[in-house]
Amino acid sequence: MKSSNQQIFSQQLLAWFDIAGRKDLPWQQDITPYRVWVSEIMLQQTQVTTVIDYYQRFMARFPTVTNLAEAPTDDVLALWTGLGYYARARNLHKAAKLVCDDFGGEFPHDHQQLQLLPGVGPSTAAAIFSIACNGRAPILDGNVKRVLTRYAAIAGWPGVKQVEKQLWELAEELTPENRVADYTQAIMDLGATLCTRSKPQCPSCPVQNNCQSFAANSQTQYPGKKPRKQIPTRQVHMLILENKNGEILLEQRPDSGIWGGLWSFPEAANTDELEHYLHNKLNAKGTKQQWPVIRHTFSHFHLDITPVHIHLNTDINAIMEDKPQLWYKGHPEQQVGLAAPVKKLLDAVFSSDLLREASL
Ligand code: SF4
Repeated sequence: MKSSNQQIFSQQLLAWFDIAGRKDLPWQQDITPYRVWVSEIMLQQTQVTTVIDYYQRFMARFPTVTNLAEAPTDDVLALWTGLGYYARARNLHKAAKLVCDDFGGEFPHDHQQLQLLPGVGPSTAAAIFSIACNGRAPILDGNVKRVLTRYAAIAGWPGVKQVEKQLWELAEELTPENRVADYTQAIMDLGATLCTRSKPQCPSCPVQNNCQSFAANSQTQYPGKKPRKQIPTRQVHMLILENKNGEILLEQRPDSGIWGGLWSFPEAANTDELEHYLHNKLNAKGTKQQWPVIRHTFSHFHLDITPVHIHLNTDINAIMEDKPQLWYKGHPEQQVGLAAPVKKLLDAVFSSDLLREASL
């Protein structure tokens, strides 16, 4: 039997949701487990406003899980370019194949079985299960963790096992028996729109009267911060090799490791390696232009990239390596998955080419 406080929480939240909750998002229309699943994966670590366009393009290209399962990985990664955390896209693709191979193309209507899909943890499974299958399971994504740590003044970083356990217990207690789909959407909305990271709008919050951190005016102390640790810096030269036809050499990265399966420039650790690459692999010469260093930060290291734009003095377009390579001209039919800094550098090359052409 739930305590009255717990019942009050869901009642207050649902009453607020009926009036103020978001109901027009693309994944809230024509609800199916597939559509909810794709939205939940895209929304991990990413804001709703960023996701909307990506989601609509993705659904236009892959309207069903079968379409996704049958697509080449490059097509999936191309539609993910710029969204980051590419392991999500690779897992999405693997999971689509698994749904088709092992579940006959139908998502399992079972909270435990949903967690068998690559990239689907307990909270994502609960969101799919409650929103699309009418089941009851508590969710605990980043927004919900923020709401609950503040509501019950739970100290400590939620990445610590003990803190996470407390949060799951509370999430389970607060989840009502009825209207679970609306409740799931409501608690995510509360975290995204009112109980925000830096300036929670407590005066408008429906659960303010029982919120412990509000009572103590300590809202922004929750959730506890992750202990900081220094991360190392790595250096790399990216070789932007442009032939006389204005094509750029790209190669596909291995499936594992950073930017797995995406297309990027050949790399060199230093200028000696760069010269070695030019003379021994390409057997070509060219004029080099070193661009300012750009930093890309991963969770566990900074990558300082020195781009070197090399105008080759030949129209070479042969493929020299046994690994996948292509000479890229930026045509739409050449859509492939690109890491964010690679896309930025290609945009810079092609826009400067346009300027050059315009001034001829
Ligand atoms: S009262 Fe403020 S801190 Fe508490 S749940 Fe609501 S918005 Fe968050």
